[in-house]
Amino acid sequence: MKTLIDKLHHEHRLTPEEYRLLLLDENVDNLSYLHQRAREVACERFGNRIFIRGLIEITNCCRNNCYYCGIRHDNRNVQRYMLSPDDILNCCREGYRLGFRTFVMQGGELPTAYDDRMTEVIRSIRSEFPDCAITLSLGERTREVYEQFYRAGANRYLLRHETHNADHYRQLHPAVMSSEHRLQCLAWLKEIGFQTGTGIMVGSPGQTVDYLLEDILFIEQLHPEMIGIGPFIPHRDTPFGEYPSGSITLTLKLLSIFRLMNPNVLLPSTTALATLAADGREQGILAGANVVMPNLSPGDCRANYSLYDGKATLGAEAAEGLLLLENKLAAIGYRLSKDKGDYVQR
Ligand code: SAM
Repeated sequence: MKTLIDKLHHEHRLTPEEYRLLLLDENVDNLSYLHQRAREVACERFGNRIFIRGLIEITNCCRNNCYYCGIRHDNRNVQRYMLSPDDILNCCREGYRLGFRTFVMQGGELPTAYDDRMTEVIRSIRSEFPDCAITLSLGERTREVYEQFYRAGANRYLLRHETHNADHYRQLHPAVMSSEHRLQCLAWLKEIGFQTGTGIMVGSPGQTVDYLLEDILFIEQLHPEMIGIGPFIPHRDTPFGEYPSGSITLTLKLLSIFRLMNPNVLLPSTTALATLAADGREQGILAGANVVMPNLSPGDCRANYSLYDGKATLGAEAAEGLLLLENKLAAIGYRLSKDKGDYVQR
């Protein structure tokens, strides 16, 4: 197995059968070897610096009904909110003051009527903060709207494909949504010139090793600039409320695989990982992640952006907890980087 890990390290790819062996292997020595290699690669590229991105959860209103998501349209137990353009700009101002140079605007999928308003918000942020990166995570849009967002000044877009397999996609989403359209959106984003991120939830209901293998091969071929992966965590008010959470071990293994596949990739250690384990964020970094995304949303909204039960929003997950985050990272030998941290192909 260590030979396979070395091969992935040096050649950045394995055959499907070799990936399968790596996914199925449960030997703890091999796993720690994998993490160590991934960590070394991340340190060669980025030193001991972890990029920070300020996450602004602009709305929990959503027209979709993904079976796993706590803010799905049909969940009547959510108190819905939508930040005004001024609220969003104020979050950016506070973030800038704290040292953030990337703002990530994430939200549920709003009706298309809001696209022009969003474009104006992007334009305002771009003109007030010309030295910052603007990342969007606003779901599926038309190609024209993505182009509009890009021209207004957005640089990066996160759109997890969730699962590459169409049957599995149908287990996770209602029939009006399709993996075909989501993949089409990713292709548009890349063509337009966004630094593009995709990814999956590890342990989503119905996920198999074959499906994970498909995801790995898809990500290898897409070659995204960012890869967002975190464990699935159930939300009590969803059809998947009774399913178990995804495995931390498997999430960490995939983080390391993706780091070795693309040494330059921007790889967040996610809030979902920090939710499942008190030191989840640090474990992600020690497995090769190099990005963290503290929450810059107004305090009174955070509890309502409840994608899954128990979502971490306090302490080192919060932008105002940067000192705590810095201390936690220092304890494992890392420090925060306030650089914009664009993707660089070396
Ligand atoms: N609407 C946008 C979209 O679909 O990309 C962005 C918001 S969506 C809530 C952001 C991500 O949250 C999804 O891509 C999904 O992977 C993740 N997510 C949703 N529910 C989750 C859950 N129960 N456990 C873990 N992650 C979840």
